[in-house]
Amino acid sequence: MSETYQVAVLAGDGIGPEVMAEARRVLDAVTRKFSLSINYTECRVGGIAIDVDGRALPEATLKACEAADAILFGSVGGPKWESLPANEQPERAALLPLRKHFALFANLRPGVCLPELVHASPLHPATVAGGFDVLCVRELTGGLYFGEPKYTKQEGGEYFAVDTMIYWESEIRRIARVAFEAARQRSGRLTSIDKANVLQNGLLWRRIVTETAADYPDITLNHLYVDNAAMQLVKNPKQFDVILAENMFGDILSDELAMLTGSLGMLPSASLGEATGTGAVAGARRFGMYEPSGGTAPDIAGKGIANPIAQILSAGMLLRYSLGQDAAADAIDAAVRKVIADGLRTADIWTEGTTRADTATMGSAIAAAI
Ligand code: NAD
Repeated sequence: MSETYQVAVLAGDGIGPEVMAEARRVLDAVTRKFSLSINYTECRVGGIAIDVDGRALPEATLKACEAADAILFGSVGGPKWESLPANEQPERAALLPLRKHFALFANLRPGVCLPELVHASPLHPATVAGGFDVLCVRELTGGLYFGEPKYTKQEGGEYFAVDTMIYWESEIRRIARVAFEAARQRSGRLTSIDKANVLQNGLLWRRIVTETAADYPDITLNHLYVDNAAMQLVKNPKQFDVILAENMFGDILSDELAMLTGSLGMLPSASLGEATGTGAVAGARRFGMYEPSGGTAPDIAGKGIANPIAQILSAGMLLRYSLGQDAAADAIDAAVRKVIADGLRTADIWTEGTTRADTATMGSAIAAAI
């Protein structure tokens, strides 16, 4: 009998539950088509958990996540909880601890601009004609954001601040492997980003990524300085397939990439941990947390008009990276492309001549296209 997968579903706040319902609808369609067996455990997280359980990440939620193969996350936060002390706020008290608890060191953010949506990109139409599809792989647990020492002090009547950028070669090697594996599933090109002309970290990064490339002779690797990468993304995003960057550079470049697509409601993300099980590195399953790149969108929450595609594509990434169900993931990607090609649009991506759809209509259409 085939395996029953366990998925923890943490819808969260704002539009979270609205778009999660559509992701579940699409998952149901895909599990029927591919005869999969998935058990869902729904848990509270974020503001709703603060209201009901007194904390953003209740023990029961963490336990359910520990027992799962993957977490499907909505988004958390909103005006109601913004006046809480910083370390009790939903994002800080739920998202960051989850990433830390499960050692989710690899952040994957696809920046896809579909041919039908190129008008949403702030780039010149000629630059994005035909759309683009870039995957940013960002190291998520090391580097300048977490390095010690980290402090602010006063000396001679003046403040100074210290942050430490530190990477161990094992940290660089494991994120590089994720990027090479991802490139192998795509068109086989990887661009590694660093600042090797200035930083010791950059020199080590470049050396270890180049060494790792020896295990992936089928992948074409090139290196770019981060400042040049920022320019090249704007100049011609189509030249990239997979981009690999350390934590801070990846933070900035992945947001730049998201902006270039112009459609926040379309962008999923994955945060992955170590590979689980045995077998070759390629295709290994990883525990992961999957969520839309956007937030809880309080301005449109409760209106039933949010774009569920980011959440639906996040579910697709979950099938691909944590459950090893590539065909089911491909089916979700294809269904989204078909529905967009057919002209269906939620309000955020609607233009003259296309058909306006609410959240449920969009979700149902994608489920039907599976
Ligand atoms: P946001 O991403 O929620 O919204 C920015 C804009 O994008 C809004 O106009 C919103 O309507 C629109 N938008 C976002 N997702 C959309 C979708 N699926 N369909 C249609 N339109 C969409 O960012 P914000 O306004 O800066 O933050 C709102 C709240 O979300 C804050 O409380 C913030 O802390 C929280 N937040 C949570 C996460 C997370 O849980 N990972 C991430 C970012 C922000």
